[in-house]
Amino acid sequence: MENNRKTIIAGNWKMNKTTTEAVELIDALIPAVADAQCEVVICTPFTALATAVEKTRGTNIHVGAQNVHFEQSGAFTGEISAEMLVDLGVEYVITGHSERRQYFAETDETVNKRTLAALNAGLKVLVCVGENLEQREQGVTEELVRLQTKIALQGVTKEQLPQVVIAYEPVWAIGTGKTATSDQAQEVCGCIRQLLGELYGEDTAQTVTIQYGGSMNPANAEELLGKPDVDGGLIGGASLKADAFASIVAAASR
Ligand code: PEP
Repeated sequence: MENNRKTIIAGNWKMNKTTTEAVELIDALIPAVADAQCEVVICTPFTALATAVEKTRGTNIHVGAQNVHFEQSGAFTGEISAEMLVDLGVEYVITGHSERRQYFAETDETVNKRTLAALNAGLKVLVCVGENLEQREQGVTEELVRLQTKIALQGVTKEQLPQVVIAYEPVWAIGTGKTATSDQAQEVCGCIRQLLGELYGEDTAQTVTIQYGGSMNPANAEELLGKPDVDGGLIGGASLKADAFASIVAAASR
């Protein structure tokens, strides 16, 4: 079924690329994705954001951060506020990435607080949800993803929802080379859309971009993106090479 949702391919560079390396990658990406028929986002480390904003000005590449703190300012050593990101010219931010949940004690509640702070500052937010292997094997994937999504969106208004993208990222597929089958991706993305319908109404739910993330690459992107509720991808490893990332963008543009 045709829809009017924006297809978004976002690269999550994680803790990779010095500023010098970021310049090289962006220089290669600009011509490689210039003809994209989808939105292209790169989420760089904090240290490369200012350079990325500067280098991509006037191109079709949008810049995002990988995390944001929920307070506006104060004694939070090492943290970065939403206002600081906006001030740099950053447009997107990722919240709730599984690596932050796993290694930095991120909880559904803090994901919600970060999401609200980012939206209130005018950022667009890529909210990550997804089950781990044990949860999938226990058969609780849908309940778990519904719960994560529902808590992440507590207090997010219908008016703010167009600034929200949900990224379904099964933890067992991230950085492992194990991709969810396109049917598995569709099943969970469809279930997220159903929840959005319950929370915001069916018409609104139909407008929200839902991405799949987890070892998406040039070989599997087209099939995953062909599913009706998969509106884009959050790409880790394959976003670090211009040709691989551009191939995924091309697949999303078809
Ligand atoms: C990610 O970091 O969000 C991700 C999906 O990583 P990878 O593509 O490497 O699995």
